[in-house]
Amino acid sequence: MADRMQKCVTRARRVATKRPPAQRIADFGEIRSDLGVEEAARQAARCEQCGTPYCQVYCPLHNNIPDWLKITGEGRMEDAYHLAQATNNFPEICGRLCPQERLCEAKWACTLEHAGHGAVTIGGVERHVGETAWAEGWVRPRVPQRLSGRSVGIVGAGPAGMAAAEELRAAGHEVHLYGAHARLGGLMSYGIPEFKMEQQVVARRARLLRDAGVVFHGNRRLGREITLEGLRLRHDAVVLAYGAQLARGLDTPGAELPGVISAMDYLVSSSRALIRETETPEIDAADKWVVVIGGGDTAMDCVRTAVGQGAAGVTCLYRRDQANIPGSAREVEHAEEEGANFDWQSQPEALMDVPVDVIASRPEGPGMRGVVRAFRTRLAASGAGGRLVPERVPGSGFEIAAMLTDGAVAVTAQGRIAADRDSRMTASDGVFAAGDARLGPSLAVWAIREGREVAAAVARYLDIVAGHAELVTDDATS
Ligand SMILES: Cc1cc2nc3c(=O)[nH]c(=O)nc-3n(C[C@H](O)[C@H](O)[C@H](O)COP(=O)(O)OP(=O)(O)OC[C@H]3O[C@@H](n4cnc5c(N)ncnc54)[C@H](O)[C@@H]3O)c2cc1C
Ligand code: SF4
Repeated sequence: MADRMQKCVTRARRVATKRPPAQRIADFGEIRSDLGVEEAARQAARCEQCGTPYCQVYCPLHNNIPDWLKITGEGRMEDAYHLAQATNNFPEICGRLCPQERLCEAKWACTLEHAGHGAVTIGGVERHVGETAWAEGWVRPRVPQRLSGRSVGIVGAGPAGMAAAEELRAAGHEVHLYGAHARLGGLMSYGIPEFKMEQQVVARRARLLRDAGVVFHGNRRLGREITLEGLRLRHDAVVLAYGAQLARGLDTPGAELPGVISAMDYLVSSSRALIRETETPEIDAADKWVVVIGGGDTAMDCVRTAVGQGAAGVTCLYRRDQANIPGSAREVEHAEEEGANFDWQSQPEALMDVPVDVIASRPEGPGMRGVVRAFRTRLAASGAGGRLVPERVPGSGFEIAAMLTDGAVAVTAQGRIAADRDSRMTASDGVFAAGDARLGPSLAVWAIREGREVAAAVARYLDIVAGHAELVTDDATS
């Protein structure tokens, strides 16, 4: 039923219901259900339809949010999907994964949030619009109308590579996607845990790409099974979208001990078991005392994965306080509900391999012998970046027993591929870069934007090579 807009004052913000912690720990499934048809329309109708929609400005894809909210409020769901899809290849994925509180629903982006009424549930509505489209059969492969006779090779099948592949295929090119793993999805399949997004959400997008004619070559790693020179000979253009590559390990003494696991190794092992590539996780936290070091989103994914695997206990150490975590406050809330402990303002100084009888603070477990020695911190005057600097509180040392500890792994920016900002081309002719490989570790929504932009850049380049367009150089413009 059509609903009038601007219901912000009379109608409260509602998000989709969270499933009870015990249920979601047991099945690893998504934490929230769909908003549902009536609530999605009710929430969409809260939109103020601002003259200058800052939500659209702060969305990395510049989604036409007020318009698809309006159409959803009127119950015109198919139109809403096509409008959402026009700027976003994967609306139902962004609806789930985006940290909306830092993007379109932030107080600087949504007038209602700014005014204290609670932001419009943009992410929840976007997910609902996408899910409705899948259920109704409105999501179809973008099969090209005509073929260009040109071929593009894309290295990396994450959101950047997948979005680029969809756009380039729709434009008529032959598209080959190469991935280091057996499945498409990149970190969406092998990093982001199921409680944030279930695998079938990525798998059906992968099927759609194949149905559009994109050819996927799994288990092909650049530098091993394939080379850049080989790809350059085979394709008219190559896009490097292989994600952020370098992991920053812990620089704490003892970080090299066998019980210290990098966050990505741990999450990939859990994902591979969940998608049945292995029978059980190669790294399993079941019955172990787990210490996770760090306060970012990856650390939070490790915390919640360990709880879900049945760890005896999970403690997260972070050197600043809860108000200053780099990750999402929403994720901390979910983890706390599920039973994780947080030791805020605690910093590890050594990881040790010691016999279990040294440990007093935990019940004994078979083979348990790791210890994290840590100290408490206080936050002192701002550092160079404006953030409070943690300082050691004298005499505050303590120890926590741990079988498995986890480096708060962020990927350093040093491994980024340099590419021209506008043409997206690297120093090598016809070789382009996109996604985390170009930006450093970022978000799925930015990777999708990168994929769309690199596809447009490649299409321009192929036109130039074919002589259909002119290359504008600095000489020509000056
Ligand atoms: C644990 C974790 C949780 C996250 N949670 C969120 C979240 O909640 N919300 C959000 O928006 N973002 C999240 N992110 C970030 C998001 O997943 C990434 O920003 C996004 O996936 C980057 O997309 P991409 O396509 O550039 O690269 P990736 O997703 O990293 O994909 C890279 C692709 O390249 C392939 N590849 C790698 N090396 C090679 C090689 N040598 N040869 C061939 N192929 C190769 C891989 O197989 C993969 O297909 C999270 C990241 C992590 C690590
Ligand atoms: S893509 Fe992300 S930031 Fe943009 S509207 Fe959707 S949820 Fe908000």
